Amino acid sequence: MTQAYAAFNPTEPLGPYQYKTRTTGPKDIRLEILYCGICHSDLHSARNEWGGAHYPLVPGHEIVGRVTEVGSEVTSFKVGELAGIGCMVDSCGACENCDAHEEQFCLNGFTGTYNGVDKKSGGYTLGGYAQHIVVDEHFALHIPDNLPLEAVAPLLCAGITTYSPLRHAKVGKGHRVGVVGLGGLGHMAVKFAAAFGAEITMLSTSKSKEEDARRLGAHHFALTTDPETNSKLQGHFDFIIDTVSAPHDHTSLIGMLRTNGTLIIVGAPPEPMQIPGFALLMGRKHLMGSLIGGIRETQEMLDFCAEHNITSDVEVIPVDQINEAYERMLKGDVRYRFVIDNSTFQNA
Ligand SMILES: [Zn+2]
Ligand SMILES: [Zn+2]
Repeated sequence: MTQAYAAFNPTEPLGPYQYKTRTTGPKDIRLEILYCGICHSDLHSARNEWGGAHYPLVPGHEIVGRVTEVGSEVTSFKVGELAGIGCMVDSCGACENCDAHEEQFCLNGFTGTYNGVDKKSGGYTLGGYAQHIVVDEHFALHIPDNLPLEAVAPLLCAGITTYSPLRHAKVGKGHRVGVVGLGGLGHMAVKFAAAFGAEITMLSTSKSKEEDARRLGAHHFALTTDPETNSKLQGHFDFIIDTVSAPHDHTSLIGMLRTNGTLIIVGAPPEPMQIPGFALLMGRKHLMGSLIGGIRETQEMLDFCAEHNITSDVEVIPVDQINEAYERMLKGDVRYRFVIDNSTFQNA
């Protein structure tokens, strides 16, 4: 049996749960999970804040583990190797977006790592707050062995979510980039934009984030609550990557873009954005959204991180502290990602 932590309903804390994973099919690999990051989506899903939750729900889509079993047709993994799993475990494999290695935009919908309809077992997928997981090798990533594994886990969601749009936008030397919000996503956006050679300004509502922002690679810091900031930074940025999922003003951010500048949205506030057309017309401003990244690009990101020594800043917790971690995450009290040490299931 696999020990796990699950949500059983939207209101009560997560608790211990056990199940049998699906048997390892010909194209599957089975992992013993070593670490799993805690993403804000886990909390939204556990509490059914986005609807469609199927209980018991085992969250977790920032998974690093070791391969313990491979199916007869598996070609890219061997027993004993490290492997990672991000937000997806399946897609149709036949649509134009799957063909283009952008499974995250599968026209038939990708299967989420948890709470997705498991086309192989018929049930719902169960995520990384567990001892084991079985996954199709196509959706498993090779994990570099030169980086601390607990700090690699969040790259599988927070990392690729910020890497992909910055790459798509071809952010590089000579670009001025604003990063809005210094949380799980924001701290990775700063690290990647810095590695790509951009000049970075951290845009935050909290002065207390300045020191960290600069340590992570930001060159400048601006307080968005200061009325001066808006006028000082008018027409300043080539790109702004906005990681904030709480309601906030997007129009003033668009005003900080240069002609042809792009506001990149990777956070999803619950209410629709209010943006006057003129804010975009004046200066041919672009609005761009982005969702994680394809499997090939996720591997490229991991290889880039291995080469440039990039990981997440993490706080490792034993499995029985998940509920406390959720409460602290809601208060923004984490620098910058909680990661579960899955070996602690043995004692839980
Ligand atoms: Zn996530
Ligand atoms: Zn597809």
